[in-house]
Amino acid sequence: MAEVELVFLGTGGGRFATITQKRKTGGIRYLSKSLNMHLDPGPGALIYSLEMGLNPQKIMAVLVSHSHPDHYTNAEILIEAMTRGMLKKRGIVAAPHSVLFGNEETGPAISRYHQKMPEKVIEVKPGVVFHVGDTRIVATEAKHSDLDAVGFRFETQEVGDIAYTSDTEYFEGVGKAYEGVRLLILCVMRPSGNPWMGHMTPEDAIKIVEEVKPEMAVATHFGMKMIFSGPNRQVKLIEEKTGVPTLAAFDGMRLRVGEKIRVERTGRKQSGLEEFLKHG
Ligand SMILES: [Zn+2]
Ligand SMILES: [Zn+2]
Repeated sequence: MAEVELVFLGTGGGRFATITQKRKTGGIRYLSKSLNMHLDPGPGALIYSLEMGLNPQKIMAVLVSHSHPDHYTNAEILIEAMTRGMLKKRGIVAAPHSVLFGNEETGPAISRYHQKMPEKVIEVKPGVVFHVGDTRIVATEAKHSDLDAVGFRFETQEVGDIAYTSDTEYFEGVGKAYEGVRLLILCVMRPSGNPWMGHMTPEDAIKIVEEVKPEMAVATHFGMKMIFSGPNRQVKLIEEKTGVPTLAAFDGMRLRVGEKIRVERTGRKQSGLEEFLKHG
């Protein structure tokens, strides 16, 4: 059976986890036989990608959920890689208005220069559908301090659906957009009993996971307070309450979504440089 592989180039989120790099903040690489996408390239996306032997020049799409640095900082340099140093019109960028044009609060986060070279730049808002290769991607609603923030739902023929909530707080109906997904990735920045507007605690994640009932849930994007509270222990609360196997993501984690969903610790096969020399 075909597989989708998700490589966590970071599992930290929020200002202090990012500034200190207590957890990395490079986002998630989405790989399959025919696809290579980068989701939320925060600080370190380029470096950790090279370090893990994932050639950024093979990326076909850069997806940015909103205009906060822990989600967008390396977007431009990944676009440079994707377009072979801005020499080849290539690839897709999908991002909301704040990232592409700015809104009253924040952004833009990707320069006009960098928006010229991808083959397509797609402005997403909740409900917008686009395709990368044979994968249908739906932008989902998020409630966050960047009002344009979205999540993403990936619909594949081979392995079913995978979704990523990005930064959001719980709201009535949030689970609707994720109905039927096999794997739900949630940004659970805050520990239990310590909510913060626009973000999730395990209590909020429990409500969403109960609505969606995926085969597996993964919590990521841990803030400093969450890191000090022990993400594994915090995330156990979600599993215990919902009965859905739930995992606290760790830096370098590889999730293979095939017939089953399997977790692998990264064995760094070769350096980015070695891969580059081999495959160009
Ligand atoms: Zn964030
Ligand atoms: Zn944010």
